[in-house]
Amino acid sequence: MLTYEHFNLQQHNTFGISAHCKRFIEYSNTEELRQILPTLIASNEPWMQIGGGSNLLFTTDYPGTILHSVISGIEVAEDGEEDVLVTAGAGICWDNFVEWTLRHGYYGLENLSYIPGEVGASAVQNIGAYGSEAADSIQSVTTIDSTDGSTKTFQRDECHYAYRHSIFKEEGVRGRYIITHVTYRLRRTFRPVLVYAGLLRELERRSVKMDELTADELRQIIIEVRKAKLPEPAEIGSAGSFFMNPIVPQETFDKLQALYPNMPHYPALAGVKLSAGWLIDQCGWKGKRLGPAGVYALQALVLVNHGGATGADIVRLSETIQRDVFNKFGIQLHPEAIFI
Ligand SMILES: Cc1cc2nc3c(=O)[nH]c(=O)nc-3n(C[C@H](O)[C@H](O)[C@H](O)COP(=O)(O)OP(=O)(O)OC[C@H]3O[C@@H](n4cnc5c(N)ncnc54)[C@H](O)[C@@H]3O)c2cc1C
Repeated sequence: MLTYEHFNLQQHNTFGISAHCKRFIEYSNTEELRQILPTLIASNEPWMQIGGGSNLLFTTDYPGTILHSVISGIEVAEDGEEDVLVTAGAGICWDNFVEWTLRHGYYGLENLSYIPGEVGASAVQNIGAYGSEAADSIQSVTTIDSTDGSTKTFQRDECHYAYRHSIFKEEGVRGRYIITHVTYRLRRTFRPVLVYAGLLRELERRSVKMDELTADELRQIIIEVRKAKLPEPAEIGSAGSFFMNPIVPQETFDKLQALYPNMPHYPALAGVKLSAGWLIDQCGWKGKRLGPAGVYALQALVLVNHGGATGADIVRLSETIQRDVFNKFGIQLHPEAIFI
């Protein structure tokens, strides 16, 4: 276990914001975590668990303790004829895990290739891309309950998964359970998920024969598409998609579509999902800057740190964009990034 005092979190958030926490503790197994918790709780100071910091915005210094897991290890928990259950430590880099599953011939996560972050957060965030979500493959999530140090395992159905949502984000639960391991149910046979129009178009453009497509090939294409569209965290700071795609009632959509016939839209469970990136682009923000914070030139949904931006700079930009989108479309954008 490693403990650092007055620690700069710049290397621990993909926005690259320089913010300090009072204490940073990195633990490598469940026992170490159990040892830390009673002292933390007794201290009455704030504390939180982070992963790779790829969906966080530190708006200011953090006045308490930040916990980070480096729990590693991947094991096949159950080996069936069609499916395997694979359990991975929360501290493993997500994309290393995806790469490992494909190398072993276990399929289901290929569309989620190259998403930044760690395995633990995949189950909190219900990460999604190109028509797949973590929830499609999660079997169970093993946690430590910070209130008493006990182990609690959530089966998939108990996790309340929805678009970028899980029980671990809900009021009253948020921050209580620390994920130590996630178990994924993966298939032995590759059945590509090709429901996302943009991905299909890309496969057609490359003249890929769908019946010959391998999981490795699909992964490589997805990585290339992502690299072309999204900033590399090591080069330019961001948290990926900064806002969630808004879901509006059908009647709101009908009125907007009459005004903007080309507005991209997708079916959603409770209405119509709109493209936050398109709304921001229509307000003229793509590629624009507000001080050291800006909107990525290739994707309007991504706010970036052009160098030296503070959390307050990013907040100022995000609030300005929210105001402009609201004034033009009457739609309130909600951040996907978590403000700390
Ligand atoms: C360039 C870029 C592209 C991105 N593309 C996508 C994308 O395509 N799809 C997508 O869904 N997301 C995307 N994201 C967002 C991000 O990658 C995901 O949200 C990711 O799951 C965050 O993982 P993390 O380990 O960095 O978690 P963090 O950002 O550190 O934390 C996220 C949340 O999880 C909690 N948490 C983290 N670890 C644990 C744990 N062990 N136990 C309990 N709670 C925990 C934290 O408290 C926090 O609330 C992108 C981000 C970037 C920078």
